[in-house]
Amino acid sequence: MKTFCGRANPTTGAMEWLEEDEDYDYHQEIARSRYADMLHDKDRNMKYYQGIRAAVNRVKERGEKAIVLDIGTGTGLLSMMAASAGADFCYAIEVFKPMANAAVKIVEKNGFHDKIKVINKHSTEVTVGPDGDMHCRANILVTELFDTELIGEGALPTYEHAHKYLVQEGCEAVPHRATVYVQLVESKRMWSWNKLFPVHVEAEDGEKIIVSPSEMENCPGVPSVCDIQLNQMPLSDFTVLSDVVTMFSVDFSKPVSSASTYYRVQLEPIKSGKAQIVLSWWDIDMDPSGMINCTMAPYWAKSTSIYQWRDHWMQCVYFLPNEEPVLQGEKVYLTACRDEYSVWYKLQKAGEEENKTDVRVDSPVCRCQAHLLWNRPRFGELNDQNRMRQYVKSLMKVLKTDSVCLCVSDGSLLPVLAHYLGAKQFFKANHLEDKIKIIEARPELLTSSHLEDKKISVLVGEPFFTTSLLPWHNLYFWYARTAVTSHLTSDVTVLPQSASLHMMIVEFQDLWRIRSPCGTCEGFDVQTMDDMINNSLNFRESKEAEPHPLWEYPCKSLSDPQKVLTFDFRKTVPQHCLSTEGSINLLRKGKTHGAVLWMEYHLAADISINTGLMQIADEKGNCEWNPHCKQAVYFFSSVTESETLSDLPSAVTYAINFDTKTGEIAMDFKI
Ligand code: SAH
Repeated sequence: MKTFCGRANPTTGAMEWLEEDEDYDYHQEIARSRYADMLHDKDRNMKYYQGIRAAVNRVKERGEKAIVLDIGTGTGLLSMMAASAGADFCYAIEVFKPMANAAVKIVEKNGFHDKIKVINKHSTEVTVGPDGDMHCRANILVTELFDTELIGEGALPTYEHAHKYLVQEGCEAVPHRATVYVQLVESKRMWSWNKLFPVHVEAEDGEKIIVSPSEMENCPGVPSVCDIQLNQMPLSDFTVLSDVVTMFSVDFSKPVSSASTYYRVQLEPIKSGKAQIVLSWWDIDMDPSGMINCTMAPYWAKSTSIYQWRDHWMQCVYFLPNEEPVLQGEKVYLTACRDEYSVWYKLQKAGEEENKTDVRVDSPVCRCQAHLLWNRPRFGELNDQNRMRQYVKSLMKVLKTDSVCLCVSDGSLLPVLAHYLGAKQFFKANHLEDKIKIIEARPELLTSSHLEDKKISVLVGEPFFTTSLLPWHNLYFWYARTAVTSHLTSDVTVLPQSASLHMMIVEFQDLWRIRSPCGTCEGFDVQTMDDMINNSLNFRESKEAEPHPLWEYPCKSLSDPQKVLTFDFRKTVPQHCLSTEGSINLLRKGKTHGAVLWMEYHLAADISINTGLMQIADEKGNCEWNPHCKQAVYFFSSVTESETLSDLPSAVTYAINFDTKTGEIAMDFKI
């Protein structure tokens, strides 16, 4: 079956109807899923296996049959572990149909079809009884339903239901328990992801300060979790204000309640400072004794040096509703509130804690709108004073007292900057009053009456659009510029005047794992899963680049960065395609995992904004990336098909084509 889906093209802005295969969504889900990353997580797999063996043995020692319930079986991995460990029977539940089908094949291929029954249902739909999905309740409950926030994927309601209806009282559970840890920190860098700092503008007539309105100052933000690779955060970017403390634990072998609740701990600050952020992570004990522990603790909080990279479980950054000064040795109370799916935090001083009724605070809801418009990296970008200075410098170069400006960018501060820098009139295609007029119209629908019959002499954009996923999607600015051409003066200044696409070949420290096939996992053949992922990756018959914030994923440059395409915003978008071919020399030895691509915007002569590589930090080729932006990553087939290259290549050839009609960039590489 085919269906037509309407969407606005992120680059051209045009409304388009795409004929989508019925299977498109699930191919996307599989291609971008974390299944491969989980199967590569050796530490997780090993510990699950140990925990499952121990649980099966405990049941057997009691002289009982071992009946396993595996909720969210995925590939069937944990059920196969249980069957190998001697379980008598496993019920493997999987709600996602393509995965349940894959599990059936994998179980069959590994010879466990008489021990494992795959049930394609949500666990809450599963029935028990002589004619039911399960003949009897299970006495071993195995699951892996956790996300970085632990409960965000619905583990609590699933456990609550399973204990009521699907497992016996006193069952064994793998994992046996989970524990959530927290640490209070001060961090200007992380705080800048949630609050807009004052912007200092050096204008001709003195310094101006742009401050955010008070409703923004006091807004608690949004409840969505901020999950990052905390191990990439240098110690110099935050100050630890407390020791690591246990916030709460969940025992999965006993009935679990998913009802909203709160937990509270007393903290004694080890340093005075501004409490802004709660860093949090969890660990799971696979057995009751706590001997088999799998932890997400970051490097500074870990007792062992054994380190497992993983992307499916990271660490959480929680923003306190307001920053609170704390004094070393002066106790404070930290409260974690949670509902079924999410957690949020609140800090109280001693004395304030008396008022217990006040403890339960509502989950954060943005009241200022800014947190709905700007995501965390965007807040960080707007707070980057260095970046802002580049815009101020270039605006000062182009603005005259009689300039009439139009700004095309989402949620931009450029109109305010330009206003302070002396532009007389300012129009902006979306926010402010008086001298700044907000036009609620798409650029192609702009009329001269919107502009009060004036012609635009300065067209500006960061450019930034909330619909952009890949770096070149912000070329929408070019399309908008083309659409408003009739409203521009003949000598219009366009800022940025041009953009360029840059590329570099890299070796990733770890990121390659997310797209690399697994083959066998703990001795089980999971190739069916590899084939399924590969099939989904190639579903459109062309591989695509994918966005990743590379400051979180270390890599080494194997080539020099190279400019591959330029886009001249002073002219309109051409009718013909822009394409380039060439070869890029490899200067360092390493595994050619892929190409990274990013955009640079040339605001004015000698002033550029770089959204990608900031610098190659050392002779080994370690890279530093723009901390606010995602870069595009194109994985070579040496990663996705685990090809081994016989010789170290000395160059990579490329062909890159920007189709100006569709706004898409197609690329092909040969090693
Ligand atoms: N157990 C596998 C896969 C874990 S991923 C492994 O450890 O490798 C979690 C899987 O659980 C996903 O495939 C998801 O679709 C499924 N899932 C989550 N909640 C579920 C529920 N309540 N009932 C059935 N499947 C569920």
